[in-house]
Amino acid sequence: MKHNFNAGPSILPRVVFEEASRAILDFNGTGLSILEIGHRTPLFEAVLQEAVSLVKELMQLKEDKEVLFLHGGASTQFFQLPMNFLSKDTTAAYLDAGVWGSKAIKEAKLFGNVKVVASSKETQYDRIPDSYSVPDDAVYFHYTTNNTIEGTQMHAIPAVNIPLVADMSSDILSREMDFNRFDFIYAGAQKNIGAAGVNLVVANKGFLEKGNTGIPSMMEYRQHVANGSMLNTPPVFAIYVCLLTLRWLKSIGGVAAMEKINEQKASLLYNTLESLPIFHLPVAPQDRSLMNAVFTMKDPDLEASFLQACKEEGMVGVKGHRSVGGFRISLYNALPLSSVETLTTLMKHFASKHG
Ligand SMILES: *Cc1c(COP(=O)(O)O)cnc(C)c1O
Repeated sequence: MKHNFNAGPSILPRVVFEEASRAILDFNGTGLSILEIGHRTPLFEAVLQEAVSLVKELMQLKEDKEVLFLHGGASTQFFQLPMNFLSKDTTAAYLDAGVWGSKAIKEAKLFGNVKVVASSKETQYDRIPDSYSVPDDAVYFHYTTNNTIEGTQMHAIPAVNIPLVADMSSDILSREMDFNRFDFIYAGAQKNIGAAGVNLVVANKGFLEKGNTGIPSMMEYRQHVANGSMLNTPPVFAIYVCLLTLRWLKSIGGVAAMEKINEQKASLLYNTLESLPIFHLPVAPQDRSLMNAVFTMKDPDLEASFLQACKEEGMVGVKGHRSVGGFRISLYNALPLSSVETLTTLMKHFASKHG
C-alpha cells in the first residue's frame, strides 16, 4: 500500500485510474481505444462537452465564462497570457509570493512592463505579502492562489478594480471560491484535475475579446474560443482523465464536500506538527496552505532517518522541493484522509523515539 504525497503529477482517484485503463483498451464499448479515435468524432466531442459542462457546474460559473482546455502546462500560460494582453506601452501588475509567480513575472517582462506590487522573496516566500496597492491603470493583476513549493495559500480574493488573473494550478476545485470574480483563471491539470499535458482556462468572454492580434494562432485565446478548444488536435487522453476526475468530484458532493475533507486532512497534519517540538513550520500560520504543508526538523541530522521511516511505510513524495529542502506533504483532492492518519501516527512514533 502506497501513500502518495507527490506534489505533481500527483495522486488521482483510484476509479479514475481504473476507468482510464479500460478506455485505453476499449472506449465505451466501441472496440476502439480512446487513444486511436479522431478528436472530431462525436465520441470525443461528447468527452470535451461533458468536461466543459462539469467545470461550469462545479465552479458555478456564470454565462459569460469560457472554458478552454489548452496545450502545455501552466508554464505556457506564464507567457501566453501576457502575449495576449500586454504590450510595450502597457503595464501588468503581479504579486511576487513564490517561485511560480516569479517565473510568471519573468515571462511577462518579455512582452511589456511589469509592476511587482509586493514581494516576500526576502523572507524566502514564507508568507503572502499583506499590504500593497494595485495600480488602476494596469491591464491585469496576476497572483498565485497557492504557492505549491513554499506551502503558502491566499485565503481571500484580493479586491482590485482591474481584471483579476490567477494561477490556480495547485488548489483549483479544492475549496469554495467565487470563481466569477476572476477574469482569467488557469491551472495545469496534473495536481487537482487530471493528467499532465493540459491546462484548464476559465475566462470572461469580454476579457478574451480584448486580446492582442498578430500573434501565432495557437497562442491566441480568441481562436481557441472560436474553435471550441479544437484549433488543432487537443491532448485527447489528458482531457479524458480530467473528465473522469471531474465526474468523481461531482459524485462525492462537489467542491463544498471536497473542501470539508481537505480541511480535515490539513488540520490533522498541522495540529500534529505543532504538537511535536521536533518539527518546525517555517510558514506564517495565517498563510499556511491546505494543499502543500512544508516543514523541517529542528535537528537536521534527523531528517534522513525520518525520510527512511516514511519510505518503510510506503510513503512517496515527502521530500521538500529541491529549492527549499525539508519536507513537503501534498494534500490534493484525491489524497485520502487515511494517508494523513498513517503519516501523523508515524510522526508521533518518530517523535517519541527521537524527541
Ligand atoms: C506546478 C505549478 C506550475 C507549473 O506547472 P507546469 O504544468 O509544470 O508548467 C505553475 N504554477 C503553479 C502554482 C504550480 O503549482
